[in-house]
Amino acid sequence: MTQIKIPMSSPDLTDADRQAVIEVINTPNLSMGKWTPAFEKTFCDLTGVNHAIAVNSGTAGLHLCVRAAGIGAGDLVITTPFSFVASSNALLFEGAIPVFVDIDPRTGNINPELVADAAKNIEKYLPRTLRNTQYVTRKESSSKLKAILPVDVFGQPADMDAINVVAKEHRLKVIEDSCEALGATYKGKQAGTLGDFGVFAFYPNKQITTGEGGVIITNDDEAAHFMRALRNQGRAPGDTWLQHTHLGYNYRIDEMSAAMGASQMSRLDSILSKREQVAAWYESRLAEIPGVEVPFIESFTTRMSWFVYVIRFDKKINRDDMAKRLDARGIPVRPYFLPIHLQPYMVEKFGWHEGDFPVTEDLGKRGLAIPFSGVMTEEQVDYVCSIIREETIT
Ligand SMILES: *Cc1c(COP(=O)(O)O)cnc(C)c1O
Repeated sequence: MTQIKIPMSSPDLTDADRQAVIEVINTPNLSMGKWTPAFEKTFCDLTGVNHAIAVNSGTAGLHLCVRAAGIGAGDLVITTPFSFVASSNALLFEGAIPVFVDIDPRTGNINPELVADAAKNIEKYLPRTLRNTQYVTRKESSSKLKAILPVDVFGQPADMDAINVVAKEHRLKVIEDSCEALGATYKGKQAGTLGDFGVFAFYPNKQITTGEGGVIITNDDEAAHFMRALRNQGRAPGDTWLQHTHLGYNYRIDEMSAAMGASQMSRLDSILSKREQVAAWYESRLAEIPGVEVPFIESFTTRMSWFVYVIRFDKKINRDDMAKRLDARGIPVRPYFLPIHLQPYMVEKFGWHEGDFPVTEDLGKRGLAIPFSGVMTEEQVDYVCSIIREETIT
């Protein structure tokens, strides 16, 4: 049998997208030109939000939200250990402390009941290394609690209504990490619009790509102006090129990336539909394989924006062995996610260990992302599923 080479992920680009980039590189305006605002406008149009700020990565976007939310050294933020590390790192950049709570075993999203309990009893959720410090009393800890940072895992929105109830009661900011969920909807509302800030990302495995890039959305005028200034080396409106009101960064997106992104945004719906089709092909073939669980979609997820396709193996099947066997047969796969609290630098700083977040750890041990993109064909899906079936049954 001939082996088909199937990539882990592929961008979904057209000649129009390529042409958009070529047009930019035939002009002298490779940064800070017209494409950045044009790209930003596509996000206001999609989400109905007042401000969109394009940056050069999703991580940069999260970092600017942390600054705009006024989260600083020693502040506490409730977030999830089942995510890509950037969601927690954005807090660490400012010396803030991620306070992890465990997740819903079906979706992998942060568990809103635990968020509510953590907001009430924050001292019980502190990382080990903070337990004999100034934070130890409830009063000290609650005064440091500033925000909730949920993640829309694998393209499915977190239970944002429940999270917002907690945020309102405890006066916390909400930063929605929608880096995996562009175009998803929750009870009919766009992902990224459900907290004070939302962030999207465009690395080549995401739904749309700009090579590297990200966008922040918010309705907070003051925060938006501040984040635009921080993105551009801290230059506030009225500052000259060498005047810097704030400590800023170079988080600008370039014009080639913005033009490429704007071109894809004009057909976002079709990009997402193609991914939906691939996910449906997978589901129909994988659901009947014993020992393989397909993704669970909540009833409040009114549109899933498929980012990766993560299956879970039954406890009887060793995921790591399975990953090796699939890889040996030419199927690229990736464990998703390795829990954040067990990453070496997190263990060193906060003293987390195995057993601290059992649901996150369980999903982290059983989940495997298989090849997925909007340009996969039904034959490729068939091929991947037939190999998974063979390897699962033998
Ligand atoms: C992709 C992603 C990001 C941001 O990634 P960048 O590579 O910096 O664009 C942040 N959070 C999550 C959950 C992601 O999946």
